[in-house]
Amino acid sequence: MLSKNIKTLNKHHNDMSIKVFNTLTRKKELLKPLNGNNINLFVCGPTVYDFSHIGHAKTYVQFDVIVRYLRYKGFEVFYLQNITDIDDKIIKRGNEQGKNPMTIARKFEKEYLSDMKELGITSIDKYARATDYIKPIIKQIKTLFDKGFAYETSDGVYFEIDKFKDYGKLCHQPLDKIKEGARVSVNKEKKNPSDFSLWKKAKINEPSWDSPWGKGRPGWHIEDTAITETEFGPQYDLHGGGSDLIFPHHESEIAQMEASSGKKPFVKYWMHTAFLNIKKEKMSKSVGNFTTIREALRKWDEKTYRFYYASTHYRTPLDYSNEAVNKVKQGLERINEFIRKVKIANGKKKNEIEKLIGETLDVFEKHMDNDFDMPQAIASVYDFIRAVNKLELSKQNGKAIIGFFEKIDSVLGVMTFEDLEVPSEIQILAEKRQKAREKKDWATADKMRDKLKTKGYYIDDTSKGPVVKKIS
Ligand code: AMP
Repeated sequence: MLSKNIKTLNKHHNDMSIKVFNTLTRKKELLKPLNGNNINLFVCGPTVYDFSHIGHAKTYVQFDVIVRYLRYKGFEVFYLQNITDIDDKIIKRGNEQGKNPMTIARKFEKEYLSDMKELGITSIDKYARATDYIKPIIKQIKTLFDKGFAYETSDGVYFEIDKFKDYGKLCHQPLDKIKEGARVSVNKEKKNPSDFSLWKKAKINEPSWDSPWGKGRPGWHIEDTAITETEFGPQYDLHGGGSDLIFPHHESEIAQMEASSGKKPFVKYWMHTAFLNIKKEKMSKSVGNFTTIREALRKWDEKTYRFYYASTHYRTPLDYSNEAVNKVKQGLERINEFIRKVKIANGKKKNEIEKLIGETLDVFEKHMDNDFDMPQAIASVYDFIRAVNKLELSKQNGKAIIGFFEKIDSVLGVMTFEDLEVPSEIQILAEKRQKAREKKDWATADKMRDKLKTKGYYIDDTSKGPVVKKIS
């Protein structure tokens, strides 16, 4: 029964036609990787000078769901993310706190990775620190010099945008308009106020690296193209990030890479997530209206919080509110309750559940294939629950349904399959053990632990406190 069901489920892998909204063409396009089923994906990672905020969580959870879905469909995705560990903001924070900027960067990189783990972000294959790519960065700048796109001033090296006629193709603005928008520049040596920095010459007490232009550090845009050229080569499939990065960051990445390699397009598909706003304003560290992921996770459990983003379309802006998360929490509880109910299904009547599962998967995939329409895809899961709730289920039906939910959850990563119910007798023993530990009464704590063990339970002492678990 179950194997037949799995066969039905796997049929869904064969059709790999996914449409993606490409910022470059402003159209939904069929996703056709450059090389067979392999997708090289790069998403801009954080600048690590503070705790990550919930706007970051939106972007990274949504890309996690997208990558999980691409893999579910059978694509071989290599997901690369950079860590900006050298930047003006990091240096400024270091100066404010009297600390070495690299100490700040390492601390907040660690905090970022821990937040990502809490949010169930499992899809990233490699994190690349900018400072580990100084050599390729210098090499790329040298190439830009050789090809006539770069020039040196007293404070650094710049990219001359007038030399790159395509500048503006991602943000869909003509070069003249871009230049008009940046008429004034503090640096009088720049040929054009919109020319962007490739290399910044070091000021006193700044972290710096040797280069043909003296000691200094890379500009923001060049780190990403040096990282991706090293890891993927001059062209790759997909580049993502928040929509605030379209201009100037991603626009300038295109200029750098297409100018230095002479190959077009640098990236085939550009995907951008819409902002998380707070009272209609973009949440950002610089505006100061931000809530950290840490704070949010004190209020909500990780899976609820993840579901808040996983159930929103990545291109729809989201206005953060407690009421909205609460609604999502109730929705997730409905799914989890349904799973618990189905697990103990023991009815006599056998229903044609496979057909319903197959149909629901078709609808789920149809919506996900359409530029990852997560809200519609999830609506199909609730339709399924409504339909099944009217039926009496056999044990086999229950198993098939759990298999189906596990499959959907390999994409969403929000459901709870383990038994949550802990008998009160067990709970009391766990609490007694905890109290004894707090009093450093190890003998009593051990006795409680042994009692729990004989009843088939153990305590997992997690960073969030003790959790009672069943011995499997
Ligand atoms: P940053 O550390 O500010 O460079 O941001 C890291 C990533 O998070 C980038 O892809 C940003 O576009 C994204 N991001 C920053 N703020 C928000 C926000 N309020 N909503 C959604 N994504 C954001």
